[in-house]
Amino acid sequence: MNNTKAYAAYNANDDLAPFEFNRRDLKANDVLIDILYCGICHSDIHLVKGDWPGARYPLVPGHEIVGKVKAVGADVTKFKIGDTAGVGVFVDSCKTCKNCKNDFENYCEEGMTGTYSELERDGVTITQGGYSTQIVVDANYVLKVSAQLDLKAVAPLLCAGITTYSPLRYAGVSAGMKVGVVGLGGLGHMGVKFASSFGAEVTVLSTSPEKEADAKKLGAHHFLLTTDAEQMKKSRNYFDVILNTVSANHDYDMYLNLLDLNGKLLVVGLPAAPPKTSPFALVNNRRSIIGSKIGGIKETQEMLDYCAEKNIVADVELIAIQDINKAYNRIVNGDVHYRFVIDLASLK
Ligand code: NAP
Ligand code: ZN
Repeated sequence: MNNTKAYAAYNANDDLAPFEFNRRDLKANDVLIDILYCGICHSDIHLVKGDWPGARYPLVPGHEIVGKVKAVGADVTKFKIGDTAGVGVFVDSCKTCKNCKNDFENYCEEGMTGTYSELERDGVTITQGGYSTQIVVDANYVLKVSAQLDLKAVAPLLCAGITTYSPLRYAGVSAGMKVGVVGLGGLGHMGVKFASSFGAEVTVLSTSPEKEADAKKLGAHHFLLTTDAEQMKKSRNYFDVILNTVSANHDYDMYLNLLDLNGKLLVVGLPAAPPKTSPFALVNNRRSIIGSKIGGIKETQEMLDYCAEKNIVADVELIAIQDINKAYNRIVNGDVHYRFVIDLASLK
C-alpha cells in the first residue's frame, strides 16, 4: 500500500505528474511530518531538467518543507505531535566526520544525504522530497519553526533563506558595508532582506529593470541595471561584498570588477556551465571568490529564530500542485515574485 501522494518528474522532458510511493515506517529517532507547504527552488528545476547530473527518476523534488508533526519515534524528545517543523536541503549525514561534529553537516566529508534524488545511508533507498503529502525524517535534521509566522512564507527560508544568510554572516556583513546582490529571484530577495537587516547598504544588481521598485520595497537602497554599461562602469571598485545568486550561465569578471580592496564575491548560484574568471580580475584589489552551500542544522535553526525575532519571511506566490509545470516555466522565464510555494492541501 502506498501511503504518500506526490508529483514527480518521470524524465527530464515531460511535465511533472502525479505519483504515489511509500514513506518508511517510523524508526526510533524519526518524525513523521504532514506537509503543509513546499517552496520551489531553482535547484529543483536544474536537477529535474538535466542541467545537473544525478537525477533519479521518478523524482519528487522539494526541499523547502514546512508542516506539522504527525507522529514521533520512541526516542524523539525534540518534537511532539502537533509541533510546527521544517525540513531543508538534506535529511541525513554521516554524523561522525569533523564537519558533522562541528555543525557543518552541509559539508559532511562523506556527503550529506540530499532531501530528494539521493541514496539514504542504507545505500538503497532513494530520497523523495516535499512535493508530497508527508515525509519521514531523522529528528536531528528537522528544524523547529515558530507557528506565529506565516507558514507558507516560512517554507522558502529552509533553502533560499539559509543559503543567503550563511555566506552573508560568514563575510561579516554589518552596518557600514556596501553589499551587492546579483539576481533578484528566490535567493536574491532573501539576500536583500538579510543584508539590509544586518545594517548594510544594499544594491540589487539585476538584468530586469522592472524589478527596481520591488528591490527598494524589499529593503535595497540602490538598484544597478547590469545590462547598462555606463552604470556598471560607475560602480567599479565600489562593493565590499557581492552575493551572486545567478542561475543562468554567466562569467564572474563583470561582478568581480565591482569589488573594492579585499572585496568578496560570494557564490551561491549553480548554473550548468562553469563560469570563466580572469586572474587579473582577482589580483586587482586582492579580491576573492567564496562558495557557500546552504548551512548546517545549527545555523539553519539560528536563521529561523532570527527571522521569527525580526519578522522576516519570503515574498511568495501560493500555487496548487496541479500548476507546478506552469510555475516551472515562469521561473525559467524570470517571472517569479519572488518564490512559488505549493499548498499541499491541493493534493490531499
Ligand atoms: P531564481 O528564483 O530563478 O533566481 C535567479 C535569478 O538570476 C533571476 O531572478 C534573475 O534575476 C537572475 N538571472 C537569470 N538569468 C540571468 C542571466 N542570464 N544573467 C544574469 N542574471 C540572471 O533562482 P533561485 O531559486 O534563487 O536559485 C538561484 C541559483 O542558486 C540556482 O542556480 C540554484 O540552483 C542555486 N542554489 C544554490 C544553493 C547553494 O547552496 N549554493 C542553494 C539553493 C539554490 P534578475 O531578473 O534580477 O536579473
Ligand atoms: Zn534550494
